[in-house]
Amino acid sequence: MRGSSLSIVVPVYNESDNLRHFHAAICEEMAKLDYDWELIFVNDGSTDNSKEILLELEQQDSHVQPIFLAKNSGHQLALTCGLDHADGDAVITMDGDMQHPPALIPTLLDYWNQGYDIVQTIREATEDASWLKKLTSAGYYKLLNIISEVPVQPGGSDFRLMDHQAVVAFRHYREHARFIRGIIGSMGFNQIQVHFTAPPRFAGVSKFSPKKMLRLAVDGVFTCSTFPLRIGLYAGVASMFASFLLILHVLYETFVQEATVAGWPSIMACILFFGGMQLLVLGLIGEYLGRTYEETKRRPLYLIERGKPRDQNNRSAISKEERL
Ligand code: UDP
Ligand code: MG
Repeated sequence: MRGSSLSIVVPVYNESDNLRHFHAAICEEMAKLDYDWELIFVNDGSTDNSKEILLELEQQDSHVQPIFLAKNSGHQLALTCGLDHADGDAVITMDGDMQHPPALIPTLLDYWNQGYDIVQTIREATEDASWLKKLTSAGYYKLLNIISEVPVQPGGSDFRLMDHQAVVAFRHYREHARFIRGIIGSMGFNQIQVHFTAPPRFAGVSKFSPKKMLRLAVDGVFTCSTFPLRIGLYAGVASMFASFLLILHVLYETFVQEATVAGWPSIMACILFFGGMQLLVLGLIGEYLGRTYEETKRRPLYLIERGKPRDQNNRSAISKEERL
């Protein structure tokens, strides 16, 4: 065995109807295995009674180590917080709604014991996903892979196992707007993929509103690529080339054909074209400028209301500069 301790990190946002069932399923799975383990629930500012249920589970089971964030910071930052506080020789991140099947944990551990540092799961299909979600997801990953500097696996989920060393490396990535799948893909290490079919949620509805989904998709594009910044350059070069051809045409009409150049339509077309292009480029520059501004503020990624109670050893601690 590569190590004897495992941390399971689970972001939680309004999952009160799932928590007890999920906890029982994890206990059942871990009982079959010979590991010291901790179950870190990161309560991401839930507004239902998830907090009370987590406090109850903490009383009942010493494996349960909840962390309560002061507000809803989003799935990606809740996951990051959990990874920052996970002590295990291996760390598994997974959702708390049973869509990431606990029954897959032994498989992930097997690969880890074979020497893989990152065991990444790939969602084959989500049984209850709408055709629109499947279509937009497939199209999105195609686009992302064309423009991204690092490959991003379609269907890649945030259900993965990471060796402690990979987790320590991950803790050095401190940007706010983050697409963890993209970061992990760029990290290297000895990675392997495992395919699974995601069952429907055990209870409740998806906590990813269309707005949050769009935010994550946009973060994926802007954090994995600087291609959008170059669109302006390409468009500028193309339009300069087009206008050069237009000038040749006008000169030909004026001096060879001696026809009067038709006036306002071509002028209007040029004004509109260049006006639109300038706005597009300004918008792109604004997007990056805004992001630079956000990052230079260097605000904490999350605020902990109440930390992990049994933080006995210092393994998960990172220096103050790294955390900020
Ligand atoms: N989640 C979170 N913060 C959020 C949204 C979601 O911690 O702002 C958690 C949620 O409780 C679940 C996981 O992230 O454990 C995945 O969310 P969900 O199942 O709603 O996403 P989907 O499976 O629909 O993509
Ligand atoms: Mg889900």
